[in-house]
Amino acid sequence: MKKLLLLSFPTNLTGEPITYTLIKNYDLKINILRASIDYNIEGSLFLEVDGLEEKINLSIEYLKIVGVKVKVIKTAITINEDECVNCGACTSICEVGALTMSDDWKISFHKDRCLDCKLCIKACPVRAIASIV
Ligand code: SF4
Ligand code: SF4
Repeated sequence: MKKLLLLSFPTNLTGEPITYTLIKNYDLKINILRASIDYNIEGSLFLEVDGLEEKINLSIEYLKIVGVKVKVIKTAITINEDECVNCGACTSICEVGALTMSDDWKISFHKDRCLDCKLCIKACPVRAIASIV
């Protein structure tokens, strides 16, 4: 399975081989989507990890034990509700039903269904949809 993880490092861990440990000890394939790390400055890593669910969960426990804050991200897609005009254009492009119109004609984003294909970004006429990576 794959999971998106947002890691935040305290200053004393920015020099640690965190991704190497995830690969070596937990047999994970790591895709670094975004990195912001400076020596002695708090850093962050946005990763896609691919592996056995049990090993991903164990790796998250390991990260927390060593002091890394871990946030499991459902999708990199974000919708700016202030910009959205509820036109519905994105609902027709999303084949998995992650974007739907509710009964009151407002857009609903079901993050658990989203496959992160990013097709909806171009479909939005007012650029209310973005990806954090
Ligand atoms: S990224 Fe793809 S799956 Fe997710 S909401 Fe947009 S179109 Fe749907
Ligand atoms: S296409 Fe853009 S403006 Fe239209 S409903 Fe979707 S997010 Fe809102």
